[in-house]
Amino acid sequence: MDIKANLHQVIKSFVNPNCQLVAVSKTKPTTALQAAYAAGIRDFGENKVQEIQAKQPEMPSDTHWHMIGHLQSNKIKYIAPFIHLIHGVDSFKLLIEIDKQGKKINRSIPVLLQIHIATEESKFGFDREELEGMLCSPEFEKLTHVQVQGLMGMATFTDNQNQIRTEFQGLKQLFDELKSRSLPSFLSMKELSMGMSGDYQIAQEEGSTMVRIGSSIFGARNYPTS
Ligand SMILES: *Cc1c(COP(=O)(O)O)cnc(C)c1O
Repeated sequence: MDIKANLHQVIKSFVNPNCQLVAVSKTKPTTALQAAYAAGIRDFGENKVQEIQAKQPEMPSDTHWHMIGHLQSNKIKYIAPFIHLIHGVDSFKLLIEIDKQGKKINRSIPVLLQIHIATEESKFGFDREELEGMLCSPEFEKLTHVQVQGLMGMATFTDNQNQIRTEFQGLKQLFDELKSRSLPSFLSMKELSMGMSGDYQIAQEEGSTMVRIGSSIFGARNYPTS
């Protein structure tokens, strides 16, 4: 496994060279992260709090940690002081909990709202109705220690490229729509996190600003992770 060569391959194939790469290192040993770091990568995506906690002390302090998995409320406190971006905020309740933890340590925590765009029920995320409900809620305006920087979504796991494209287009449309609205100052639409190893080129064609790529860099994961 030549991580450096894989990285070059991936970056060379970017449709948008300005798109931020988050190297998804879940299940991989810290030595793999160190190889990617040596090749210039600073942004790493993990989906388990415990794994971030284990790897963080072994990585240089300028490593950016991205939480890309489903986050449980009782674990927020472990990553709140340093997490660079929480991609998978999929409920108002979770956002309120993150705000609460941010308040405790006086840090405004950067997050993305995960939107459900796939046809699979198993994937997490807000649907449109839940999102509107939250945005219109008086409780929402009272948040003080979160920075909502954009949206995240995962397309359906399918070979049907048209379906994937349509799902990404829907997410981009929502992103643009929110961008044009007047919203509280802690909410901005800067980042659109969409695209993984199988679909990052389509995602970039449809306006992604951030792709989360694992297996194309680090190789296949040999055990299920969520
Ligand atoms: C695992 C994971 C990825 C990376 O998947 P690959 O197909 O290995 O690139 C991206 N996003 C999320 C949310 C993930 O859980």
